[in-house]
Amino acid sequence: MGALHQVDSNTNGNGSGTAKDGSRTTIKSWAPATGELLGEVRVSTKDEIRAAVARARKAQAAWGVLPIEERCERLLRLRDALVDRADEIVDVVSRECGKPRHDCLSHEVTVTVDLLSYYCKNAARILAPHDIGLHLLKHKKSSIHYAPRGVVGVISPWNFPFVIPMGDVLAALVAGNAVVLKPSEVTPLSIQKAKEIFDGTGLPEDLFTVVYGYGEAGQALIESGIQKLVFTGGVETGKRVAAACGANLVPCVMELGGKAPLIACADCDVERTARAIVFGGFVNSGQVCISVERVYAHESVHDQLVARVKEITGTLRQGDPNGTETVDVGAIIFPKQIEIAEKHIADAVAKGAQIVSGGKKRTGAGQFFEPTVLTGCDHTMTVMKEEIFGPIVPIQKVASEDEAVRLANDSHLGLNAYVFTKNREKGKRIAQRIEAGSVVVNDVLVNYAAAEAPFGGIKQSGFGRVHGDDALRDMCDARHVFSGRVPEPSSDPLWFPYSSKAYRWQMRVLRALFSRGSIVKRIGKLF
Ligand code: NAD
Repeated sequence: MGALHQVDSNTNGNGSGTAKDGSRTTIKSWAPATGELLGEVRVSTKDEIRAAVARARKAQAAWGVLPIEERCERLLRLRDALVDRADEIVDVVSRECGKPRHDCLSHEVTVTVDLLSYYCKNAARILAPHDIGLHLLKHKKSSIHYAPRGVVGVISPWNFPFVIPMGDVLAALVAGNAVVLKPSEVTPLSIQKAKEIFDGTGLPEDLFTVVYGYGEAGQALIESGIQKLVFTGGVETGKRVAAACGANLVPCVMELGGKAPLIACADCDVERTARAIVFGGFVNSGQVCISVERVYAHESVHDQLVARVKEITGTLRQGDPNGTETVDVGAIIFPKQIEIAEKHIADAVAKGAQIVSGGKKRTGAGQFFEPTVLTGCDHTMTVMKEEIFGPIVPIQKVASEDEAVRLANDSHLGLNAYVFTKNREKGKRIAQRIEAGSVVVNDVLVNYAAAEAPFGGIKQSGFGRVHGDDALRDMCDARHVFSGRVPEPSSDPLWFPYSSKAYRWQMRVLRALFSRGSIVKRIGKLF
């Protein structure tokens, strides 16, 4: 049994070693479910981060020129190792996050392995050069070629410490890049395990480097000459990171916070909807960017739905997931998240909400907060407007689906959203009216597991996408190659010397092509 966690609530709660000059030199990893010290890593200096990027660049030069098929073949060895050592990954992630082993296996390992499989199977097609038909310059030919960008930086959060960074790392590697990753300071051991497995597969060591540290290390990575950054984290950090990327002209993907609404229509299947609310709200203790963070229940099903949500919530088994596969809800990552949950509840109750289940932190060892259901909620309450990132499901009664859509869109965030109705076509129509990157009908969270589908947000939930074909292409520079279809003459009518005659000729061409009713336009139906 290690030392118990002493919390510094000004930080994310992980203790750190401090050098004489005040800088933090080590990061300690604590088990949120028990308070045990699990391990420690050394903080990388700015020079080390810069050197890691320089080494990655050398490794990339050899990796990026390999045929895609060969890169994928070698990365599939990593997939085999991830599958073989899945239990080890589950052990580390489960202890470091206090999350149930089921969550770790399905969400962290399986989704990572599936994404790698999809990309390896399809990369040659997705990254194949392709021609673009030109509607005006018929005598020319255009094609797009995808070339690896170089070194991709990844900065990741603690809530999915394996799948989020590894998804980005693997996409970058498949596309021919090298990667330098700075994981969250809260969960360094999960990615240390990933790196250990990577190094055991014979892939070039410098192709994937992990640097450890706090915000300053992330900043240093952005300033170290990377060609792209994939950032996942909170909105406020995202603004700082995007500004740093702007200052260094580093293209970036921003995967930020969420406030997923769930609309329970009058014709929803109440049992499925209730179970989805409980799962979507409480899986990983609600610490999911696409958690069900607010429910709009039609008045005709509201009471029945609340009753079932309460009953099902009452059956959840909460506790330390270590050594058991029958814990449903685990711990909260650090005390600050518990304080945030308490503040939301106090605000909601002061404004008239009722606590139907839970509502408080558990006493005893570890950091646990009871799965909490609130009713009588409305948009004056922070719990309906700001990201909770904890096990709280606030429910608001609505008179119509139009009201539900209006409230769903009354948010500065737009990552995921959910619609429940027995009429799937109606669900899809409502989905198109909701301002979110992804809208799921009659299910929750599952879109993240669709390797083919783009994932990401709109509004302040960020920009750019991970997963899907476009995200893999975006790990590359799209290079446009432009050439002639016919032998080129020795000069061109649009080149020098300019003349009045050439100008008049150009005017005639403009009118012939674009004036309404022009003969060329009618015959050619070109434009
Ligand atoms: P965070 O913003 O506190 O930290 C994220 C990462 O950014 C960490 O690695 C951190 O060290 C680093 N960082 C902090 N300051 C930095 C700086 N100035 N420059 C560079 N890097 C810096 O987020 P968190 O608490 O780890 O994660 C929770 C948040 O992440 C939630 O808001 C959640 O919604 C969001 N999230 C989003 C997605 C998504 O896909 N959209 C997925 C998971 C989590």
